[in-house]
Amino acid sequence: MTATTIDSDSFTRYAESFGGRLIHPDATDYDAARTVWNGLIDRRPALIARCTSADDVVRSVLFARENDLLVSIRGGGHHVAGYAVCDDGMMIDMSAMRRVDIDPQARTARVQAGALWADVDGAAQPHGLATPGGEVSLTGVAGLTLGGGVGYVRRKFGLSCDNLLAVEIVTADGQKRRASQSENSDLFWALRGGGGNFGVVTAFEFRLHPVGPEVVTLNPIYPFDQARSLLEAWRRFTDTAPDEASTAFAIWGIPEHPDLPVELHGMPVCLLDGMYSGPRPQGEALFQPLREVAEPIMDLGGPTTYLEAQKSFDEFMRDGDLYYWKSLYLNEMSDDAIGTMMSWVRRRPNPRLLVIIRHLGGAISRVAEDATAYQNRAAQFMFSIDGAWTDPAESERNIAWIRGFWEAMSRYSNGGVYVNFPGFGENPQHLWRSSYGNNYRKLVAVKTKYDPANFFRMNQNIKPVADKVH
Ligand SMILES: Cc1cc2nc3c(=O)[nH]c(=O)nc-3n(C[C@H](O)[C@H](O)[C@H](O)COP(=O)(O)OP(=O)(O)OC[C@H]3O[C@@H](n4cnc5c(N)ncnc54)[C@H](O)[C@@H]3O)c2cc1C
Repeated sequence: MTATTIDSDSFTRYAESFGGRLIHPDATDYDAARTVWNGLIDRRPALIARCTSADDVVRSVLFARENDLLVSIRGGGHHVAGYAVCDDGMMIDMSAMRRVDIDPQARTARVQAGALWADVDGAAQPHGLATPGGEVSLTGVAGLTLGGGVGYVRRKFGLSCDNLLAVEIVTADGQKRRASQSENSDLFWALRGGGGNFGVVTAFEFRLHPVGPEVVTLNPIYPFDQARSLLEAWRRFTDTAPDEASTAFAIWGIPEHPDLPVELHGMPVCLLDGMYSGPRPQGEALFQPLREVAEPIMDLGGPTTYLEAQKSFDEFMRDGDLYYWKSLYLNEMSDDAIGTMMSWVRRRPNPRLLVIIRHLGGAISRVAEDATAYQNRAAQFMFSIDGAWTDPAESERNIAWIRGFWEAMSRYSNGGVYVNFPGFGENPQHLWRSSYGNNYRKLVAVKTKYDPANFFRMNQNIKPVADKVH
């Protein structure tokens, strides 16, 4: 932070009142603090404000406003586009605020905005409760929930954002507000899918449901040459699948992981991934035919605990590797779409490029499209290409391939991306408009009311009416 841009008296007052830690570029842990999950992101904020209270957030917002600093907000730091960190400005870092309080009688959880899903699951499962989270337990609650939240109990209990009861937030004017169905209801509407556009969330209140402790997972892994027949079998399964079953089809390469046989590392495979969140006998019977489509190479599914299932992919999504993920919503998996997909995946430049199709529907599509900012509720499938690699020399080729594949699949989509898997948010005006569809205008109105100067813009940015600058 340079003396030319910052009024030093104002900084002194801010630093004296700040209860958390202000991390400057010369601090020994500055690099660790600015690093996010995607190793392609290398940004250097002038200051990292690691907050420990909502008051710290208020002070940081007011200080950044006074000094006209660009602000980014870090939850779990897992957004693929790296929106959590900015160059030169201030990162408001929520990672020290991870408290989770469970009320088992009321079946609610109050979750501070720096929590990871492992924190929520770890606190709720001893009571036999859960709220829909993500499929990797190290992902942040904040970014995932604010963009929607698609997890292993999505068809039974909906998106993460569908289970919000209230949100505590500091808006661009430095005010602490509460948003719920009865307080600031327009803000509450926008926060359920509209991302970090409206302020710094300090805590979420979620509804909890009885889940687990035992669940049944689906995870047969087949040779790649079975991909088409597996995809067709899975498509038939999704036609009649009960809400308890949230499943996905994927094409991948066996990860180089010490627990997996060395001779299989890198082998191209197809697989199913999913969870049955109901009684074990029904889950086992339902999944059995999908485990026998061909001779599996491995089968990692079966009865397990919800906690274990929630962590099962954690080690395969290492911090600091290079990532580019892009998605589309599909109303159906037509034969033509399957054909296009198969022709592209055969030419994958790298077996670690994961192609995944998640079955949506169920509770997600029983919410009206205008009930929350998250819009794409009729879509039955979410298609995403989750690119991962380690050698920077491969970045250009991998990203170009993913973009080409995404373009080719776009013609089967009803438009828009899942805002939590948007590549780097290229062509933002078009991308966010098409992703929010008919809800876009209302999002602009709420943004204009609560953040007329577009102070919060390191996100899937909804521009307020008057913003011609950013
Ligand atoms: C390994 C991995 C697995 C994933 N699995 C799933 C999955 O199963 N389902 C799914 O739906 N998504 C999944 N995602 C995508 C995930 O939803 C996004 O990456 C999400 O942004 C992560 O949230 P975060 O808090 O970790 O991100 P961050 O990078 O910290 O933040 C993301 C965005 O949210 C904003 N934000 C963060 N905290 C706050 C806050 N307190 N107040 C206001 N705005 C805030 C940030 O400014 C930024 O714009 C996965 C991502 C990864 C990397």
